[in-house]
Amino acid sequence: MNANFIKERKKALEKQKRSLEEQLSSFARKSKSLNGGWEALYPDFKGGCIEEEADEVEEYDKRVSLEKMMAEELDKVNLALKKIKEARYGICEKCGKLISKERLIVYPQARYCKECNK
Ligand SMILES: [Zn+2]
Repeated sequence: MNANFIKERKKALEKQKRSLEEQLSSFARKSKSLNGGWEALYPDFKGGCIEEEADEVEEYDKRVSLEKMMAEELDKVNLALKKIKEARYGICEKCGKLISKERLIVYPQARYCKECNK
């Protein structure tokens, strides 16, 4: 894999990392207890009636699942950046073969090749 290609992937990954962190920090905060994890903030709609409380719970549930999804993606992005640093980027974690360029272009944080991801 050529250096320029990896440089481009690195740029894409860093952009994604920034955007994920930005989105996460709008409704979650970095958790002190979980190692490097995030936790969704409980929304406070400032009304206090039962209906609003129900909305808060619903919104919180949404935030929790969104937070989980985005934090997982962020982990993958960080892992890919780490791999670039260690010069083992683009190698399938399961079979050790190279992940195709096409796949890395659409999904730079891919951990597995197409075959192993099935
Ligand atoms: Zn594989």
